[in-house]
Amino acid sequence: MATYSHSRISTYEQCPYKFKLRYIDKIKADIPTTIEAFMGDMVHRTLEKLYRDRKFMKEITLDGLIKFYKDLWSKHYSRDILIVKKDLTSVNYRKMGEKYISDYYERMKPFEQMTILDLETKGRMTLPDGNQWHVRIDKLGCDNEGNYFVCDYKTNSRMKDQEEADEDRQLALYSIWVKDKFKDAKNVKLIWHMLAFNKDAISDRTEEQLKKLQEEVIEKIREIETAKDFPTNITELCDYCEYQGMCPSFKHQVELKEIKTIKEFKEDEGVKLVDEFSDVKTQLTELKKKDEEYKESLVQYAKQFGIDVVYGSNKKCSVKEIDKVVMPEDKDELIQLLKEKGVWDEMSMINHSRFKSKILKDKLDEDIKGEVDVVKDYRLSLSGRKDRGDE
Ligand code: SF4
Repeated sequence: MATYSHSRISTYEQCPYKFKLRYIDKIKADIPTTIEAFMGDMVHRTLEKLYRDRKFMKEITLDGLIKFYKDLWSKHYSRDILIVKKDLTSVNYRKMGEKYISDYYERMKPFEQMTILDLETKGRMTLPDGNQWHVRIDKLGCDNEGNYFVCDYKTNSRMKDQEEADEDRQLALYSIWVKDKFKDAKNVKLIWHMLAFNKDAISDRTEEQLKKLQEEVIEKIREIETAKDFPTNITELCDYCEYQGMCPSFKHQVELKEIKTIKEFKEDEGVKLVDEFSDVKTQLTELKKKDEEYKESLVQYAKQFGIDVVYGSNKKCSVKEIDKVVMPEDKDELIQLLKEKGVWDEMSMINHSRFKSKILKDKLDEDIKGEVDVVKDYRLSLSGRKDRGDE
């Protein structure tokens, strides 16, 4: 049985390929982390220090806390941390974190909202399928009335709305652990300290919701454990992915960034192939347009002179009027009529894309599958390069 966590499952949902690299192949990423994650880590550690000091009756001033944060930053910051937003520097992020800590400190002092039970918990709980689930709560507290508080610091630049809070998986699962561990827990409040907004998002769950959530998580784990393919999934989050240099969808782009001169860039075999392929595609589109224009002109010419063959130097072109059937846009009514008249079977054709999808998803029986072969093929599609502002 394995140990799962919210981040492990989220990584699979975000990109199965990244999941494979990180959790199955256990490959160390090219870059240590992103600046957003680094800042989040520094802020978390600083707020942990705040509450740990208080536990030992050590008062810590805001200045003292900020100094701790800045020292921590200097000690751990390295130049290979990824900064995606090119108009920002590490100093911008350090200052953002500083502000988050100051705002939180001022809003929460004298920090008596709850009795702190634990910080950065390292617990585990056993899921009904036997797998383990990592319980990593930033701040766990309670009051005297049986209310428990599962708190998470968030440094996201987007405020979590109520709907998101009510659907969040991470803290909700932790509340199962809290209810199991603390038998006096009457309510478990899930609190996200949204530090960039100096506000909290709050939610809770009913027993039924928790049961359903646990079933969904188990189902997701089953999906991961039976997965045979781990395809890449290109999304906006790829900009922040530490594995770009090993990812088949970005490896070439990363290699091109290493190239220093335009000449070298233009001489790259891949660049040449894509540029030429793109030219051919453009020409084909133009040719298709011209083909239509010539057809139209030849029809007009033939009509004007009452002829049905037009002669060129080496070829001749026959222009014959034919009957073309235009199908209705909404075909349902027509299909229904064909069925009623008993001619549907001889008219209908296989819906190729639906058939293909069912075959590939293993949703047709073995006899039908036996009638076709599944072979490897390639689909090429051209699109603009986001990193070059061409989309
Ligand atoms: S860059 Fe994107 S597609 Fe590639 S591994 Fe990372 S998340 Fe997946």
